[in-house]
Amino acid sequence: MHLLIIGAGIGGLSTALMLAEQGISCSVLEQAPEIREVGVGINILPHAVKHLARLGLLGELEANAIPTGTLILANRFGQEVWREVRGAKAGYDVPQFSIHRGRLQKILLDAVRERVGDVVRVDHRLTGFVQADGAATALFETAQGPVTLQADGLIGADGIHSVVRKGLFPDQGPPLWSGVMMWRGARDWPKFLDGNSMTILGGRREKLVVYPIAPGTTEDTRLTNWVINIGIAAPGSPLPQSEDWSREGARQALLKRIDRFSSPLLDVRGLLESTPQFWEHPMCDRDALPFWSKDRVTLLGDAAHPMYPMGSNGAGQAILDAACLSRELGARKTVIDAFKAYEAERLPLTAEVVRRNRLGGPEMVIDRVEELAPDGFDDIEALLPYPERLRLSNEYAETAGFSQARVNA
Ligand SMILES: Cc1cc2nc3c(=O)[nH]c(=O)nc-3n(C[C@H](O)[C@H](O)[C@H](O)COP(=O)(O)OP(=O)(O)OC[C@H]3O[C@@H](n4cnc5c(N)ncnc54)[C@H](O)[C@@H]3O)c2cc1C
Repeated sequence: MHLLIIGAGIGGLSTALMLAEQGISCSVLEQAPEIREVGVGINILPHAVKHLARLGLLGELEANAIPTGTLILANRFGQEVWREVRGAKAGYDVPQFSIHRGRLQKILLDAVRERVGDVVRVDHRLTGFVQADGAATALFETAQGPVTLQADGLIGADGIHSVVRKGLFPDQGPPLWSGVMMWRGARDWPKFLDGNSMTILGGRREKLVVYPIAPGTTEDTRLTNWVINIGIAAPGSPLPQSEDWSREGARQALLKRIDRFSSPLLDVRGLLESTPQFWEHPMCDRDALPFWSKDRVTLLGDAAHPMYPMGSNGAGQAILDAACLSRELGARKTVIDAFKAYEAERLPLTAEVVRRNRLGGPEMVIDRVEELAPDGFDDIEALLPYPERLRLSNEYAETAGFSQARVNA
């Protein structure tokens, strides 16, 4: 059996590694002319880390990432609403990791090259595919001209603008915009608390997320990732610009938004103002699909279920897809059966995560506090008692498949 994987992102590369475990060969076709370490911070929750650990990548992750130990949720004035331990501290067998997206991609790419071989082809942009005579045939544009490849199956791991998805659903429109704009950056910065903590400030339409993603240039610093989310239009408004992970942010637009956030843990203005380069990105997703698999073609990761980047799920759900798909391909007699079984397991679960993220994701507890007390509070217990904060915190965890209960630390 030989499969084509379209896209060498987190999902595509994880799939290549896990297919190799099952003894299944593949080629990974990537549109970029080279794979560079692009993006900023992402989080991988323990339920996805355990698959990377099985692949023997724990040491690489420990050397390049931060094992997130504590999550602190606060209102935009930095008043604490909720604090919980994460990952190994919360009793999981493996940590939660905060990591640079490009670094994780590089770790996966190196592992593919070392274990699977020279299977990743850059400069191959998928333009279309056909299915006939018991095979899937994919068409690519390359610098050398058009290329055609044939295999037993085709896996579309080609992200939110997936050409494979468009082939299955030609009438789908553009991604759906929440009305929230995100600014994202990272820089070397003095560590806050123990250097392994993440803090999220604000509420539904205004949020600041700060967490370290790698060791810093000194013992006392960390490569510190920040994200500002601000609602600038009504949900469902037309996209203000093309939705692109690599668009550089406008400094003036960002600076006017900084002062609404303050935190006793760190100098928010100093961190954001001094970040030399940052990116802006409209927060988008797409509606859940009725199916992902048609005969010998299926979808995976953001191509299958693009979701708002909250709750540390984008990359993690792609890794969970890869684990399920490779397991089914190893166990079933035909590619067609395996793709259907994979879809039956993963589509409903991820559709629910997409839906939950639209409602506010795991940070619903601070959204609620913002609604109740937009100008701050004197006593959190009086405003929103602990049992209610616990309920709001735990509901999301169950949906996203990390059902170990969250408790206030
Ligand atoms: C450049 C970039 C930067 C990102 N930065 C962040 C970030 O900072 N924070 C965050 O939370 N998420 C980021 N993401 C998204 C995040 O990586 C995904 O949500 C998550 O990891 C799921 O991964 P995926 O493999 O499904 O999709 P992606 O990571 O989007 O990977 C898809 C891959 O497919 C390739 N591709 C697309 N179209 C074609 C085609 N026609 N032919 C061949 N290859 C194709 C893309 O170049 C890409 O390498 C970024 C994605 C990209 C592509």
